[in-house]
Amino acid sequence: MDKQVRVRFAPSPTGALHIGGARTAYFNWLFARQQQGVFVLRIDDTDRARSTEESYRQILDSFRWLGIDWDEGPDCGGPYGPYRQSERTEIYRNHLQRLIAEGKVYPCFCSAEQLQADREEAAREGRPSRYSGRCRDLSAEERERRLAAGEPHVYRLRTDATGETVVHDLIRGDVVFQNSEIDDFIVWKADDSPTYHFASCVDDLAMRISHVIRAEEHLSNTPRHVTLFEAFGSEAPAFAHVPMILAPDRSKLSKRHGATSVSEYREMGILPEALVNYLLLLGFSPGDDREIVDRETAIEVFSLDRVAKHAAVYDVKKLEWLNAHYFRAQSPDVVVGQIWDELVRFGYVAANEVDRHVLAWIRTVVEFVQTRSRNAADLIDGMRPYFEGITAYDDKGVRKQFSDPATPERLRAVAQRLAGVAPFTAPVIESSFRALIDELGLKAGQLIHPVRLALTGVTVGPGLFDVIAMLGREEACQRLEIAAERIASGTVATK
Ligand code: GLU
Repeated sequence: MDKQVRVRFAPSPTGALHIGGARTAYFNWLFARQQQGVFVLRIDDTDRARSTEESYRQILDSFRWLGIDWDEGPDCGGPYGPYRQSERTEIYRNHLQRLIAEGKVYPCFCSAEQLQADREEAAREGRPSRYSGRCRDLSAEERERRLAAGEPHVYRLRTDATGETVVHDLIRGDVVFQNSEIDDFIVWKADDSPTYHFASCVDDLAMRISHVIRAEEHLSNTPRHVTLFEAFGSEAPAFAHVPMILAPDRSKLSKRHGATSVSEYREMGILPEALVNYLLLLGFSPGDDREIVDRETAIEVFSLDRVAKHAAVYDVKKLEWLNAHYFRAQSPDVVVGQIWDELVRFGYVAANEVDRHVLAWIRTVVEFVQTRSRNAADLIDGMRPYFEGITAYDDKGVRKQFSDPATPERLRAVAQRLAGVAPFTAPVIESSFRALIDELGLKAGQLIHPVRLALTGVTVGPGLFDVIAMLGREEACQRLEIAAERIASGTVATK
């Protein structure tokens, strides 16, 4: 039986979770869920100066919001913890001791100035800059003496300068690196802490990671990692490097291209379902021209060999289009819950409203406007005519529905009729409205459409008699009078 799939996402908590990271995490998650594997969240916080608690919390929050859950991590623990690198120093130290004992690493006492001079010399001679090997073959006595004297030092891995290292990448195939390009790199820093390469490999081993799925920018680190796994006498995990995300102009995606972090998308009203669907399409194709691929489907269809080798180009229009799809697919009741605080803020509803007519009316308006909205902001905007006075009427509607010279008079006739309707409910309103249509010798549409426009400023909406009932007698009559007055006085140009 194949060994269990165990993958990890290892963010450095030095800022917000960016879409590139979220995409890499989502690919890891999809792979784990599909393979009934384990998804580990590990926090790479060895950079003490740049790591913050706030970023750590924000990253976890962003994942929770996206609906990407983890099986082992700093908050929930697991068999291979702790899951923050800053709490794993002893584990790293033990691994270093092992490599020291086996002679696979050696202390290097070269000063920064010396290394700089070496680099300059290499540049002058047109050679690639690699570590000179000055401390590689110090005698055991000299090493001991200098260590005992407390000379500042790092530890370097003893590497083989000949031959090649092949990275078997599940997305890119075999990527061959010449060993002459890999020098005796540093695994332990002079401040007595591990380098990224060392901590990452120790953790991937200790946490039994089977597949390292990470950003393309790490591909150039991978031959070093393969060499380190060899030094530990362990099999390296499988690797998959996912392509970069570029801005539409094919430059590196950055702040100036708009939102780049998950929390910014959240604030913009992007739904998590839309964002994860979008992340999937950034570099993965389901094999047909499907673009709507929800989480469940993505778990089924995901495969690393369908991840693109080339960079993905960011397209905010596609994200908005997906968002509109997922936004409209939500149940109106869910949407009411989502926007409730906003409705209260705008004064459209009382925070503790319980009147079932009012609640039903809100649901009716939401259900109607939702189908025409791309996001919550659109929706709230579209709800405005039902909750605020009308300041403007749809232009096309005005030309079509208000141009008959009899319009002001007809709107006033409706207002007068409504004044006498009792009880003021949709069915009773409807029968007296229809009676008026007959009395005026009109076709239904000749009265219904102008009245809708006068009451809501727009030409489409929920059932007109429901609209009238919910606006209430006073508000409805007032809106009709105002529209009649505006048309008659020419404030609203109908031609
Ligand atoms: N902390 C590294 C990063 O954020 C992780 C790289 C890796 O996955 O090995 O890029």
